[in-house]
Amino acid sequence: MGLDPEKLRELLASQGQEDPASAAAPETAGPGDGSHTSPSPSERLQFDLKPEELISYLDDFVIRQDPAKAILATKICTHFNRLKLPLENDEDLVGNIKNNILMIGPTGVGKTYIIKLIARRLGVPFVKADATKFSETGYVGGDVEDLVRELVSEADGDIELAQHGIIYIDEIDKIASSRDTTGPDVSRSGVQRNLLKLMEETDVDLKAPNDISSQMESVIQLQKTGKMERKKINTRNILFVVSGAFAGLDDIIARRVNRGSMGFSLTQAPTDDEHTGDDAENLLAQVRAEDLIEYGFESEFIGRLPVVAVLDALSQDDLFSILSNPKSSVILSKKRDFRSYGIGLTFTEDSLAVLAERAFQEHTGARGLVSAIEKALLSFERKLPSSDIESLVVDDNLVREPEKHLRQLMVDQSLTAFTDSFRAEHGIALTFDDTGKRAAKEMAAERGELPVATCREALRDYGHGLKLLELDEFVVTAKVLQDPQASLNQLIKSRYGDDKV
Ligand code: ADP
Repeated sequence: MGLDPEKLRELLASQGQEDPASAAAPETAGPGDGSHTSPSPSERLQFDLKPEELISYLDDFVIRQDPAKAILATKICTHFNRLKLPLENDEDLVGNIKNNILMIGPTGVGKTYIIKLIARRLGVPFVKADATKFSETGYVGGDVEDLVRELVSEADGDIELAQHGIIYIDEIDKIASSRDTTGPDVSRSGVQRNLLKLMEETDVDLKAPNDISSQMESVIQLQKTGKMERKKINTRNILFVVSGAFAGLDDIIARRVNRGSMGFSLTQAPTDDEHTGDDAENLLAQVRAEDLIEYGFESEFIGRLPVVAVLDALSQDDLFSILSNPKSSVILSKKRDFRSYGIGLTFTEDSLAVLAERAFQEHTGARGLVSAIEKALLSFERKLPSSDIESLVVDDNLVREPEKHLRQLMVDQSLTAFTDSFRAEHGIALTFDDTGKRAAKEMAAERGELPVATCREALRDYGHGLKLLELDEFVVTAKVLQDPQASLNQLIKSRYGDDKV
């Protein structure tokens, strides 16, 4: 029930107003440029980065994935640098093949991260969506085009910049058709075809057709000013990156490879159990268009994805390296969380090793790191902001038993509060040995209070007593806490005894 753009155009035409968007035919104007006077992208957007520079930038952040980093950085660099060249003639345009990219790799291995880093380095807008979203909604075209409009908002309304953005579509393997016989195959290939149009070249209306208020705004603006802002976004120079885990693709490749090497197709492909992770990765690196077509993609769709990058699963050591990287966003972002409460966070190397081990067990790549850190630190993030604690050292024990460590920390903190106030009141330095700490904690837990209260009560005569004994430091043991009066008497007795000697 949206306002039909054609009707809108007719309405405007009947009022003698020309729609500048329709005048801005892509062949005559520079890409994304509705006017002949504004600078071309080559002047506005300076892409002069070299592939090697981009690769070394990625190396600072991304662990492993060297082949993928090289392919992606090189092809994306070329894509954007190529835009600097003036279009020589129409034939150039017709034969123009964009470096749209297919990334294959399990979850949490850096697919999104690499593309985001590249987009940031190049200063181009980036949007990400899941392909599954398109297949479920039923009005595919609208959704897919929304991605293009989102690029404009990512570019703060700068349409020209949006037309040089990157659209990333994850879970693309979920719109493969032939393998899932129960799924709606027709709609899946429909999604592929809709994406295909965008990936090649098409004009997308800046205003969504079903967004009546923005359509009306345009009409009012036109009537007031006689001008209408450019309404179309051309997708010719938008780079599309699609990705997925492609479960089972290794089997298809294995069958093909075996057929080739044996000369006949009777050889059984190894079953999943027989594939080691490395085998699967080696096979994926040999992927060809025909394998993806067998997987369930239209050949035209695969034809628009000339660049394929395979990303490897990450080992436990890789996860440790990610955490150890001083630029690790996982660690930096947790430190920032705590810093917002004025708490300094440091991680020991041992703690990083345990976090990597925990994360590896989750089988979600580096994403497991975030959840492992959350699991370890959530209760600290809750409790410490209400305490006096201003720094926290995360060690392996803390990661293994966070609750126990937190209780210990709160007890220690409570004991510190007690010893601080004791020193301030009586000028005597108290320390607790291990037995004293344990006893204070147990007695406090029994009474349902913090050790500071238990100790204040138990040692209420000690300020006076220790002063009489002229002591300026004293070690509190379990024995002292369990029977403070007897211990103090004992001390006094032994002191008198000493005096007599
Ligand atoms: P996916 O491969 O599923 O797209 P992401 O790229 O979103 O996974 O990874 C999630 C997070 O894990 C990233 O934001 C990044 O912090 C971290 N990460 C993933 N892979 C790597 C890697 N190879 N090197 C460094 N960090 C990584």
